[in-house]
Amino acid sequence: MKIGVLALQGAVTEHIVSIEKTGAVGLPIKRVEQLEEVQGLIIPGGESTTIGKLMRKYGFIEAIRDFSSQGKPIFGTCAGLIVLAQRIASGEPGHLELMDITVARNAFGRQRESFECDLEVKGINEAVRAVFIRAPLITEVGPEVDVLTVYNNEIVTARQGNLLVSSFHPELTDDYRLHQYFADMVQAVGTANK
Ligand code: GLN
Repeated sequence: MKIGVLALQGAVTEHIVSIEKTGAVGLPIKRVEQLEEVQGLIIPGGESTTIGKLMRKYGFIEAIRDFSSQGKPIFGTCAGLIVLAQRIASGEPGHLELMDITVARNAFGRQRESFECDLEVKGINEAVRAVFIRAPLITEVGPEVDVLTVYNNEIVTARQGNLLVSSFHPELTDDYRLHQYFADMVQAVGTANK
């Protein structure tokens, strides 16, 4: 099983390392054609405006929408969550607009630039170690969205069918269970298609 990491900007290598801990192969994705080689895709943290611009420039908006419409799983972390959202609270235009959520950018940043904590994630037995860096918050979710983590009354992990998002960076710790959760989503689609 191969899982791609969108490699236009941001924390790519760390995600590849975490994917490989699950036993899947991690592949940096720099060109749209490479999406054909992978069964799942991670959109990493970084700066969402920059990632969005580069996605437009290199044809990734249509290509990733198409990837998602085939039921292939996508996991957005931090800036990756922002580019998956249908709505951005500031009113700026969305990017992929695939997931029925509204996000507020840099929502924790005003209080604390970055911090670490342990979080309960629905579907994972023990608490997951999370690193937040100028993190976004999910401020609204549509009826199809399953909330997986609420932290201080705020939604920070959620899933809608084949889409998974986290406000924090699961790739910056040794704890790869959220990557394992995503790898299991990718595996389940593969099994269903056999
Ligand atoms: N603050 C960034 C943005 O709005 C996201 C931060 C991150 O990915 N660590 O794009």
